[in-house]
Amino acid sequence: MAFLSHLTRMDADTSGLQLLNTVKHTTMNKKYATICARELFEDNQNHSHQLPIFQTSSFEPGSMERAVDLFSGKEKGYVYTRYGNPTIDAVQNKLALLEGLGSSEDCFCILTSSGMSAISTLIQAVLEPGKAILIHPSLYGGTLEYMLHILPGSGHEVIQVDFNDSDGLKKVLAERSHEIGMIYFETPTNPGLEIIDISAVCKLAKKAGIPAAVDNTFCTSFLQQPLSLGADYVVYSTTKFINGHGNSTGGAILGKKGDPNEKPIWKNMKLLGTCIGPFEAWLINQGLKTLPLRMEKHCNNALKIARYLEAKNTLVNRVNYPGLKDNPGHRTAGRQMNLPGSMLSFELDADLKKCLEFCDALHFSKAPTLGDTDTLLLHPASSSHINVDPEIRLKSGITDGLIRLSVGIEDAEDLISDLESAFAAIS
Ligand SMILES: *Cc1c(COP(=O)(O)O)cnc(C)c1O
Repeated sequence: MAFLSHLTRMDADTSGLQLLNTVKHTTMNKKYATICARELFEDNQNHSHQLPIFQTSSFEPGSMERAVDLFSGKEKGYVYTRYGNPTIDAVQNKLALLEGLGSSEDCFCILTSSGMSAISTLIQAVLEPGKAILIHPSLYGGTLEYMLHILPGSGHEVIQVDFNDSDGLKKVLAERSHEIGMIYFETPTNPGLEIIDISAVCKLAKKAGIPAAVDNTFCTSFLQQPLSLGADYVVYSTTKFINGHGNSTGGAILGKKGDPNEKPIWKNMKLLGTCIGPFEAWLINQGLKTLPLRMEKHCNNALKIARYLEAKNTLVNRVNYPGLKDNPGHRTAGRQMNLPGSMLSFELDADLKKCLEFCDALHFSKAPTLGDTDTLLLHPASSSHINVDPEIRLKSGITDGLIRLSVGIEDAEDLISDLESAFAAIS
């Protein structure tokens, strides 16, 4: 059953969600939204109702004796915001609690300045010198660029395998597991919306003794909880759905409490200086309050649009959305996602010129991000993947007609009528 009982209401009229509501997070039923809506932070001094912003770079120890105790670690307390800050801590605690709801284990969370810094901080802490990283090649553009252009310079080979090719994955792990220090992937992938079976991949990783990390940005812990499916680490660009309002850049690294890398990850954050600021953390907290409401509306709207586009089969070659019944990832998504998400892509049956005309006819924002309240459009071939070799682009399904949508929380009827006008404009 879905972890939110009122989502079952949607089951009745939307079969696409039905299959996807099979995750058994019974203990989460009323907890997730409650944690989001309330403040965990207790202000014993002033009793503020909402989380205050401790907009300070340092903390006054009071005496030299206490300074020594704080710096030596004898006393726990705040010293310097790059090491820790009450506003940042409160938000980390909330994210850790939310991520841990699906499993029996407690989680840790370290906030960072961006999604990219979360990824690089995690990898630098976990990937041992000389070891390779094994990836599914459909990754966020920046992540792939980091993997291919930065990591090799530090002596890390990047091995690419299709994680949906189970035999190929097993073969690489059988032959090269001693060389591989980390497994890294995203699901659903960008911009093809392929689904990777988290449990299956993590089981193989565990067998080979290799830690696995999942970028869960597209889903948030409200839709998918990779740690409960066997992953060791989760990373987020909080810039996207977690903040949800497009007004801050941030990232997060999560794992299970007691993981031997928790301290090294924190140390890397502290010493690489990839810390978040108190105000950005506070904006994440603001976004988290409505995360469940937003995600539900995002998903509901996305399913409506996916179905609308699917029915436009003379103008649209294919629609990539895990909530659609004949999507190849539908069953796996049903097992590991609570709802099918806000992200979808579709291929217009048109050449580049016509496709760009179609994009221009739409009133959707062309801002190059995702997860905001309004619907965002991306044309990968002319933006995020413009510098990718056309042959590689085509191999990943990024044709000139491919359009990615981050479906917002507007009225679905308005979005559909906008699409309808754009189709009329090009036909
Ligand atoms: C945006 C994004 C990132 C990078 O996050 P920034 O906050 O822009 O650094 C990483 N992964 C995914 C899936 C993203 O969408």
